[in-house]
Amino acid sequence: MNARLQPSRSADQRKPLQLLIAAPRGFCAGVDRAIEIVERAIERYGVPVYVRHEIVHNQYVVDALKAQGAIFVEELDEVPDGAPVVFSAHGVPKSVPVEAQRRTMTWVDATCPLVSKVHRQAERQVEAGRHILFIGHRGHPEVIGTMGQVPEGSITLVETLTDVGTLNFLPDLPLAFLTQTTLSVDDTREIVAALQARFPDIVGPKAEDICYATSNRQAAVKAIAPGSDLVLVIGATNSSNSVRLVEVAMRMGTDARLIQRASDIDPAWLDGVGTVGLTAGASAPEKLVREVVEQLAQWRTVEERTIVTTEEKMVFKLPRQLID
Ligand code: SF4
Repeated sequence: MNARLQPSRSADQRKPLQLLIAAPRGFCAGVDRAIEIVERAIERYGVPVYVRHEIVHNQYVVDALKAQGAIFVEELDEVPDGAPVVFSAHGVPKSVPVEAQRRTMTWVDATCPLVSKVHRQAERQVEAGRHILFIGHRGHPEVIGTMGQVPEGSITLVETLTDVGTLNFLPDLPLAFLTQTTLSVDDTREIVAALQARFPDIVGPKAEDICYATSNRQAAVKAIAPGSDLVLVIGATNSSNSVRLVEVAMRMGTDARLIQRASDIDPAWLDGVGTVGLTAGASAPEKLVREVVEQLAQWRTVEERTIVTTEEKMVFKLPRQLID
């Protein structure tokens, strides 16, 4: 797709800015589903509906849902007994729905089905008597949720290649590995290879559990980064998949910046820049992509091109309690 946006002021004298927009980018099926769950919960139960943790890591999305009557909290003790509460797309430890049940809350689980799949794998591996090595980033809500699916002591977090060297298990302890869904495909491949070299009998999923949306967005950045002088990634600093997109571009030798919105762009970044690559993390809405394009067009004549690496058709079903 080609489009030409005209600048509104004197910048039209300057060299056009080539803009390469990655596709796929932005919302994934898990984020679409999580937002729809909150909207439907508000329709069904009335306001306020509580949401435990940011439903997805994007301030624009959170603010839009707040305006519709959602109240965001970090823990269930901030939610009144009996109130409706939605769990975020990142998933929650098993203790959270147990607590919600005990306090007679109406709860709706917006955990992405691809995260729930990892939860079930974790349970199965522990049932099979294996200790789990979980590759992920400490403190991320998805990691807290997945590690909270199995008893303490049955899962060990592995964050880096260096961590692999420090692991110490009895030789006869059966091991399995699982991964967070939003990791760097390249880093994870290296960590899995190191685990398999150290523990040849370790079992794991056929491919790591990095989700289709994370892999596709990283592949799309790889397609635009080599031809760009600067890559802009729209996403929050706490959005794991967005931060990974910045890393992917930088590893290809291209300067890259994480921005939440167009207003974060410093026009000085464009000095000497002929081509900008643009993408958005899985929790960033397309509206913010268009906002960035419009902002760039205020400064330079923009010649926009979308680089499509794959088409996505994934859709996840809503929880039954919201469609009956
Ligand atoms: Fe699900 Fe992947 Fe989207 Fe996370 S990034 S919500 S795991 S599809």
